[in-house]
Amino acid sequence: MNAQIISIGSELAGGQTVDTNAAWLARQLAMLGIQCSKHVTIADELVPIRDSIVSVSREADLLLITGGLGPTPDDLTRTALAEAMGVRLRFHQVSFARIEAFFKARKRRMHADNRNQAMFPESAEPIENGCGTAPGIYARLNDADIFCLPGVPYEMKAMFEQSVRPRFSDDVRQQTILHQTLRTFGMSEAEVGDKLSDLMRRDRNPNVGTSAADLVISVRFHARGSSESEASELIDRDAAEIRRRLGKVVFGESEDTLADAVARLLIERRQTLSTAESCTGGLLAKRLTDVSGASSYLIQGIVAYANEAKRDLLQIPMDLIETHGAVSAQVAEAMAVNCRRLSATDYALAVTGIAGPTGATPGKPVGLVYIALAAPVETVVKELRLGENLTRTQIRDRTAKIALNLLRLQLIGHS
Ligand code: AMP
Ligand code: MG
Repeated sequence: MNAQIISIGSELAGGQTVDTNAAWLARQLAMLGIQCSKHVTIADELVPIRDSIVSVSREADLLLITGGLGPTPDDLTRTALAEAMGVRLRFHQVSFARIEAFFKARKRRMHADNRNQAMFPESAEPIENGCGTAPGIYARLNDADIFCLPGVPYEMKAMFEQSVRPRFSDDVRQQTILHQTLRTFGMSEAEVGDKLSDLMRRDRNPNVGTSAADLVISVRFHARGSSESEASELIDRDAAEIRRRLGKVVFGESEDTLADAVARLLIERRQTLSTAESCTGGLLAKRLTDVSGASSYLIQGIVAYANEAKRDLLQIPMDLIETHGAVSAQVAEAMAVNCRRLSATDYALAVTGIAGPTGATPGKPVGLVYIALAAPVETVVKELRLGENLTRTQIRDRTAKIALNLLRLQLIGHS
């Protein structure tokens, strides 16, 4: 069964409002085992809406339309659907009475335009709206079932749940789709794709794909099965295989962050952490404290931005800074070692670098960062050259992630 979604509204096509309806509906369909193959977004214009309804009804078995059911002249779904079906609009007395009752119950005066909402293409069926004025519409065209739902998200959801889902839950439920995401850090999307290429064949079940966001590569997969247990078995088998192939770069599932992964490992080992930050200005500590319960392993985060602060808060000798520069492997190492000692923690992460766009010197370009990790047995220092074309925000974000990953690898014994 192939489903498609048309979202209608100039505010959606123009980017002022993000189309959350289509995403929500597609997820609901997936839970019913119905795959959605296309989302179309169209401004409030009659001809494109009409033409799109015609073409989608030829391609899909199920078409969900949201928006454009209001009473004003820019609400064109009704008219467009009637034109697509080649029929006229007809006044539906029962729906009109419901709209009138809606206003009466709220002691509000009904505008004459609300009568438009009781107009339906001939042969279409009204769908009652339990929480707003706009009734929905059910129609058939070119062997496709078409449901028109309101644009207002909570009305759309309520109508889907009350009037659309029940029509499908019985006959389509023989299929279940389950989703899983594995999150990786430290491998490029191309490398991940290379290692999983046979699993990523388009016609395969589970269907496996990758997406990249700020150095984190997610491997997303969904499995369809005739039952939940069949789908979940397929998911588990692929998850295990993908973890085996990608190894240490996999740090979590679903919405996990690197800080979540580090938190789990530190809690498991009952170990503690402190941070000493210069160029990230506390971002590392922020990411760590985004995780609820962080006080059980994060003891403190020191932001030592100026040289004097490095001296006073972290006991870094001024001559070490003068000899090597504040952005140097030596200073990063001393920051980590002293932070670990002063905080009495098992680990300390220290960061110093040039986040730009100013501050570069000959030999020390924007994007040069040193990360040091002081651990019980040794201290490691990593030099990063993140590149001068990155923004300050990107350099700080990547530095924080790479630092957290350095600690994660140390904790799993893969540094
Ligand atoms: P409509 O009745 O279709 O004009 O929609 C009413 C309001 O619902 C719009 O002004 C939007 O704020 C919101 N809305 C409509 N469609 C969507 C959508 N696809 N996603 C999120 N919000 C929407
Ligand atoms: Mg609209």
